[in-house]
Amino acid sequence: MQQRWKQATQLVHAGHEKDPSGALVSPLYQSATFTFTSAEQGGRRFAGDEPGYIYTRLGNPTTNELERKLAVLEGAEAAAATASGMAAVSTALLTHLSQGDHIVASHAVYGCTYSFLTEHLPRYGVEVTLVDCKDADAVKAAITSKTKVLFFETPVNPHLDVYDISALSAIARQQQVVTIVDNTFMTPLLQQPIKLGADMVIHSATKYLNGHGDVIAGMICGSEAVIEKAKYEVLKDFGGVLSPHDAWLILRGMKTLDVRLSRHCASAQRIAEYLQNHSQVEKVYYPGLNDHQGNSLVGKQMKQAGGVIAFELRCDLAGSIAFVNQLKLWTIAVSLGDAESLIQHPASMTHSPYTPEQRLAAGISDNLLRISVGLEDSEDLIADLEQAFT
Ligand code: PLP
Repeated sequence: MQQRWKQATQLVHAGHEKDPSGALVSPLYQSATFTFTSAEQGGRRFAGDEPGYIYTRLGNPTTNELERKLAVLEGAEAAAATASGMAAVSTALLTHLSQGDHIVASHAVYGCTYSFLTEHLPRYGVEVTLVDCKDADAVKAAITSKTKVLFFETPVNPHLDVYDISALSAIARQQQVVTIVDNTFMTPLLQQPIKLGADMVIHSATKYLNGHGDVIAGMICGSEAVIEKAKYEVLKDFGGVLSPHDAWLILRGMKTLDVRLSRHCASAQRIAEYLQNHSQVEKVYYPGLNDHQGNSLVGKQMKQAGGVIAFELRCDLAGSIAFVNQLKLWTIAVSLGDAESLIQHPASMTHSPYTPEQRLAAGISDNLLRISVGLEDSEDLIADLEQAFT
């Protein structure tokens, strides 16, 4: 039945189980471990012969509620919560990759995902090929008999390139390659990659899912079998599980995701159009603009264009940095999806793990600025941008 609810209803009710006390809101199970009534019972739980909780690194009722909710929203069989978005990236990849395997990944990804792909996976004997996933032929050509995973974000952090999930997943599936999509910028409300053919979805739940800037968290979604492997083979031993308190905060934050996203998207569209018409702006990267490379997929693959915009000013780097420092209402900080509107400079901040040459190859210019449009009134946000231009 939960699968048939509209997503706004799922956000409030999916995954919730009535509490015996009658509490409206699920209690927080802030407990590291769970007691057994006898030594034999403990043995049965460890052996998997009896259901029940053991130890929070292996499972916790509060965290499980969050996992059930996100699985329903993404249209996945199951989900696992992780300690950060990076724990979600590493867990998803380590669930599928072993020494001697090969992965094809987008050349433009969040900076720490880039360093995980290019520095850490090769240390474990995994070969990595980076491609521009706008070019489906290049993706196809990069796949070899050793390829196990195709990994990309869409829209891309930081420059909002949009990749065709259905087309890329179909190419991967033909070669028995698993497609993993980082859906952080969209959330399942704007885009459901599994319904478009992807095998797994990952999130930095730090961003829109929680939405209040007070938690670091991640999520992975996929089939029962893959999530079981991720939880009991990777997360169990690598240990990057989410704290129940943070899971509880995300459960609270997610109830308002639908209404928050409406404001984020409407304001971002308005601000992107304002920037596009400004004489001091060289280029705006926002999928909701007609001239954006991914605009034809808005309304199809993705319901709306989201709340993140990137742009370049008609000035040198020093001028761009001076513009950022001039802002009063926009806050200089990395992250996105919060109530507060944020601005950051990818080349020196989120994408500093790239070398300048690697950034250039990935289409991330040194002048690029990235903004996350918050929940303030868009007129106030535009007025602040305007005063920083003058
Ligand atoms: N994926 C994307 C697209 C991100 O933007 C980020 C962080 O900004 C991450 C993953 C990593 O998430 P976290 O910071 O929660 O570890």
